[in-house]
Amino acid sequence: MGFTDRHLLGIEPLGPAAITEILDRADRYVALNRDPGRHADALAGATLINMFFESSTRTQASFELAGKRLGADVMNMAMQASSLSKGETLIDTATTLNAMGPDLLVVRHPHSGAVNLLAEKVTCAVLNAGDGRHEHPTQALLDALTIRRAKGRLHRLSVAICGDIAHSRVARSNILLLNRMESRVRLIAPPTLLPKGIEGFGVEVFEDMEEGLRDVDVVMMLRLQRERMDGGFVPSEREYYHRYGLDHDKLAFAKPDAIVMHPGPMNRGVEIDGTLADDINRSVIREQVEMGVAVRMAAMDLLARNWRAAEVPA
Ligand code: ASP
Repeated sequence: MGFTDRHLLGIEPLGPAAITEILDRADRYVALNRDPGRHADALAGATLINMFFESSTRTQASFELAGKRLGADVMNMAMQASSLSKGETLIDTATTLNAMGPDLLVVRHPHSGAVNLLAEKVTCAVLNAGDGRHEHPTQALLDALTIRRAKGRLHRLSVAICGDIAHSRVARSNILLLNRMESRVRLIAPPTLLPKGIEGFGVEVFEDMEEGLRDVDVVMMLRLQRERMDGGFVPSEREYYHRYGLDHDKLAFAKPDAIVMHPGPMNRGVEIDGTLADDINRSVIREQVEMGVAVRMAAMDLLARNWRAAEVPA
């Protein structure tokens, strides 16, 4: 069974076949996006609304571009300026928009679980573009596609995720996906930046970069997510960079062909050295952005297929 769901709210409910179906379709969209013609019609006649309650550059732009390349009418709601600031609840806003008859709502929200709640209240398909520290499924899928294209497979790899794991929905979705595809995940972070209950995640945990990076195939760096911190989690950025910032010296502990990833936005000189981030022999950060558009096209195309299959013929 491939991807048959009505919504894409997280990696949690997806099995290996569903993940593989989305990635295979995304691979085809990478080829299409590199073609000068680059238009498809999987969403022709459909309306996509982007609702971002938290700031975003690449994710929002990527969904907008993906929707347009598939022929959808795309509308971006400026949520800060909307009726939310007049006290309307998330659910009221969603049901109002739902009454306008969109086919797809792409939602980012600062609260974990908010997007799932919203999906229960609307009749259209909902795509989670990041909810609090819970999930960011299209990020994990674009990361998986980037890894699969660089390494030729997704199973039996060793992947290190380093930095602010505690506040990261990217880490959570990636752990779920990589475990499901039978790769091994190592988390490297100071104890203050690890989530509670980490033992239950099926990962190995390291405090030290030298030990944690040993022989890994992939190194994924994370930003310190200060907007979700409510206290001092790291002594100073300088000290943090010294212990956990990735540079060419620390990368030498990993396999010689290990790739470097970052979901962005990146803080150069805090979690990653700028020259390493730009080193096209090791860093695939630009590819991640390219894969983002293709993965979002694939996810929306398959959601459209699923809702069309569920429509009762008149
Ligand atoms: N862009 C990613 C997210 O929305 C990672 C980050 O913000 O650091 O979760």
